[in-house]
Amino acid sequence: MILNTPIDMHLHLREGKILKDVIPYTTNQFAAAVIMPNLIPPVDNREKLESYKAEILENSENFTPLMNLFMREYTEEELLDLSEDIFAIKLYPAGITTNSENGVKSIEAIYPVLEIMQELDIPLSVHGETNGFVLDREREFGAVYKKLAIDFPKLKVIMEHVGTADLLSLLDEYENLYATVTLHHLLLTLDDVAGGMLNPHYFCKPIIKTPKDKMEIQKFVKSGHKKIMFGSDSAPHPIKNKLKGAAGVFSAPVILPALAEFFEGDNETFQKFISDNARENFNLNLPERQVELIEEEWIAPYIVGDIKPMWAGKKFRYKVKNAV
Ligand SMILES: [Zn+2]
Repeated sequence: MILNTPIDMHLHLREGKILKDVIPYTTNQFAAAVIMPNLIPPVDNREKLESYKAEILENSENFTPLMNLFMREYTEEELLDLSEDIFAIKLYPAGITTNSENGVKSIEAIYPVLEIMQELDIPLSVHGETNGFVLDREREFGAVYKKLAIDFPKLKVIMEHVGTADLLSLLDEYENLYATVTLHHLLLTLDDVAGGMLNPHYFCKPIIKTPKDKMEIQKFVKSGHKKIMFGSDSAPHPIKNKLKGAAGVFSAPVILPALAEFFEGDNETFQKFISDNARENFNLNLPERQVELIEEEWIAPYIVGDIKPMWAGKKFRYKVKNAV
């Protein structure tokens, strides 16, 4: 099976040793990825943007990093200067997830920035969770998505890593809302995290939810909905940090083999989900690259550097031709 120009619309690569360890598992499967900016300090100025992009390019080949900026109160001048070099600006409500302590405390405070983004056609990427009960946070954030969609009708708003179908049903109500879905919210439930022995490696924000949520997300994705795109939110943390409770699933190594099994028999929808929808929704003009999957048994790596991948050691029926 050949996939044309697969794109991961939501990826954490970190920096330094971790980046070096994890990046080959993305670049062997994806032609491009949207790179998240939650470093310490965050990617929120030209200097950091350029040095981070350079680090990614030094460690990859035939790969296009689509860079995101971390939301703050940017001026129009700054955004005019940066707009050609970024894909989107990422909004983290303060304190919700990894390195989001510097996130935005009130949405209204950034309305002037959203105004400028709308004018310059810069998409807004959102980690959509309230501070409510852990299983309700995404659903509750739906009200914020609606308000953003109405107040900024020309701003493209990406609801990231959607873990509940309540949010996906907003896609048909508001023209300017889009969504990414991760591998773990598509294929796991809270039972995989806490149903038996606690599995800290599957602990993430937003938390993986109920079998009903999973089933409904699967239905949306299988329907080939044009506004739903794949974004792994692959988020590597060293094992010692995971054991202390860090949130994030490192799914990068197993993405295409797992999705090939999920979409078995429907390559057309697979191709849309993994690339075409994103390219059409955001007019992405990327160098094309074919990625081949062969039907051959493949075992997911047990460990990558100091990081334990999702489904470590699991057997898959498909293998990426140039597997790491
Ligand atoms: Zn993320």
